[in-house]
Amino acid sequence: MKQQAKPMFDATTIPGDLCPIATRANPMLPGDWRSMRPVVDRAKCVKCAVCWLHCPVQCVVEKAAWFDFDLATCKGCGICMVECPHGAISMIEEAA
Ligand code: SF4
Ligand code: SF4
Repeated sequence: MKQQAKPMFDATTIPGDLCPIATRANPMLPGDWRSMRPVVDRAKCVKCAVCWLHCPVQCVVEKAAWFDFDLATCKGCGICMVECPHGAISMIEEAA
């Protein structure tokens, strides 16, 4: 069987009658597997917060003059890009 990059759980700590998936959270965040990321054109952003309102994982963060993203938790779905009324967000491919 192929070795996982990050182990899902330590099997030695699991009592025999428990489901292993429920015993320890997976440490991976969306930033570990996302294939696309959002980028804001700061010159176009008017801080309307529409991206903040629509982001399903609440990873849009407010900066002094624009809105940006917490790339550890952003899953790259692109909803913010579709919803931004000013065309200020682009989705770019993650580097390999
Ligand atoms: S929706 Fe677009 S213009 Fe509005 S805050 Fe987000 S990036 Fe800026
Ligand atoms: S790509 Fe999806 S998860 Fe990431 S900031 Fe935009 S709406 Fe949120």
